[in-house]
Amino acid sequence: MTSETQQQEAMKCIEDGSALEPSKTSGEPSMRCPVCEGAWLTDEALHAIEDKSFDPDLVKGQMRYGEHDTDHACPHCGDLMTRFRYRGHGLEIEACPNEAGYWLDHGEDRHIKDALKDRQRGLRRSAGAQRDWHATRRGEKLSLVDRIKALFGR
Ligand SMILES: [Zn+2]
Ligand SMILES: [Zn+2]
Repeated sequence: MTSETQQQEAMKCIEDGSALEPSKTSGEPSMRCPVCEGAWLTDEALHAIEDKSFDPDLVKGQMRYGEHDTDHACPHCGDLMTRFRYRGHGLEIEACPNEAGYWLDHGEDRHIKDALKDRQRGLRRSAGAQRDWHATRRGEKLSLVDRIKALFGR
């Protein structure tokens, strides 16, 4: 009995072509390469990582900086993936051009958490300083947004 079902859908690692195995990332389903430990994350899984490391009341800011094409085929749809600097940090991750998900090399989910924690610390500091300056002017929220724009808007 050789039943190669029409389950041709098996997703492959973009680095080494190994079949990805079902896994979990921050409680959300993801796919992980058993060889290089790269991972395919859906939007939900990426946001689950972010929500575990970042206070939802703080603005996360723009996610994609310096986006450009790659010659890696998306494991999900086969179109060429794009690559961008995650939230302006040194970390570069690849994404499905059709927004099906993201590819993270081994350990990059850890970097995402670190990047967000850094940012959160920075925002808390500047929010505190801003509160003093603008206490008598507008609401805290607006001044925080202005402050973020000043910091990250370049
Ligand atoms: Zn791999
Ligand atoms: Zn895709």
